[in-house]
Amino acid sequence: MSSNAQLMARRRAAVARGVGQAFEIFVERARNAELWDVEGQRYIDFAGGIAVLNTGHCHPRVVEAVQQQLTQYTHTCFQVVAYEPYVALAEKLNALAPGEFAKKTLLLSSGAEAVENAVKIARAYTQRSGVIAFTGGYHGRTLMTLGLTGKVQPYKSGFGPFPAEVFHAKFPNALHGVSIDEAIASVEQIFKNDIEAERVAAFIVEPVQGEGGFYIAPVEFVRRLRELADRHGILLIADEVQTGAGRTGTWFACEQWGVAPDLITTAKSLAGGFPISGVVGRAEVMDAPAPGGLGGTYAGSPIACAAALAVLEVFEQEKLLARSQALGERLVQRLTAIAETQPAIGDVRALGAMVAIELFAVENGRADLRRPDADLTRRVVADAARRGLILLSCGTNGNVIRFLVPLTASNALIGEGLDILQASLVAVQR
Ligand code: PMP
Repeated sequence: MSSNAQLMARRRAAVARGVGQAFEIFVERARNAELWDVEGQRYIDFAGGIAVLNTGHCHPRVVEAVQQQLTQYTHTCFQVVAYEPYVALAEKLNALAPGEFAKKTLLLSSGAEAVENAVKIARAYTQRSGVIAFTGGYHGRTLMTLGLTGKVQPYKSGFGPFPAEVFHAKFPNALHGVSIDEAIASVEQIFKNDIEAERVAAFIVEPVQGEGGFYIAPVEFVRRLRELADRHGILLIADEVQTGAGRTGTWFACEQWGVAPDLITTAKSLAGGFPISGVVGRAEVMDAPAPGGLGGTYAGSPIACAAALAVLEVFEQEKLLARSQALGERLVQRLTAIAETQPAIGDVRALGAMVAIELFAVENGRADLRRPDADLTRRVVADAARRGLILLSCGTNGNVIRFLVPLTASNALIGEGLDILQASLVAVQR
């Protein structure tokens, strides 16, 4: 059997270097919130394949559903010969999305594809071209979604030009001094400086910025955005690729807004490790593109549909929405306690189980919020990996550690992971 080092050497020779890799390890097998590398080393997985494993690695019900699907058919292309699991998943997502109006769903394969299609649908419905996204937002790696993404390094650098008619307003961030008023004023500013409101098709916003740093969009902000949208005939798109599928304590994070977006994008944990994504939204908006305007060869694969339907069952059976809330509270409690002895932790924040800590340089025994510490963050993540914990960082300043542990992980395992985090924080600052 090959070692991690041997596989890394083959990877370096064979795989484009633009594909990043957080850790120099290769997986052999994974179950729930643990994985084992090719050398037999065990890791606790707090990354969940970047927010994909809310139901854990290889949930038995998901595996069983996929195995069953494999015995029937694996691919026909929904646009050629349709199949029931696609329709069943669309029905379920329509019922789960907030808003007192009829809904329809389009299924695809990746998060970026969902965002691309949400923009296409919004443009087709409004017959307008402009899109307003937010600073620090992340929407994917295709050219339109890179245009929407509000962070240059490493995503956008060298890949332009990006599609026209995309503008960035400020995302509110109390910790870093951007008020809700300022954020809303920056939207109005775009209407004055860049594009008239009557030509804007949509706002696109993450309920909690994911790659950008786990910053939570305040409810007052999204309500004011909804008001602006209504006043000007603009659609509101919630990009729930990372926040959706139960991560924040509700199936969609926007259920907590009290106002409904017109379109929601979803992906990642929806199918517990199988590639599927979707756009769910107002029926008349979803029906704007003409037949043939939407789709894709693999879009809404029956294998991934079967997995997603099983994930929804698991959420019900194992009461994972309540678990998401309780797990978030547990993590915040423990991380707050760790922060008391670790002044570099300048903030602990959470929406449900979407939890993060933010690390800063320490001045006079306190975090200096003007000095994000990306280097410390990198050292903590690397040290934790050596001790058997997979952590993920994020944030425009690279100084946020995010917690995306499966909701199905036991409290004991999560405790073990947090012990490692604490030991790493101590070790790298000695
Ligand atoms: N939108 C958001 C909010 C995301 O977090 C991501 C992935 N991190 C994407 C879109 C893109 O999803 P994918 O990588 O599946 O294309």
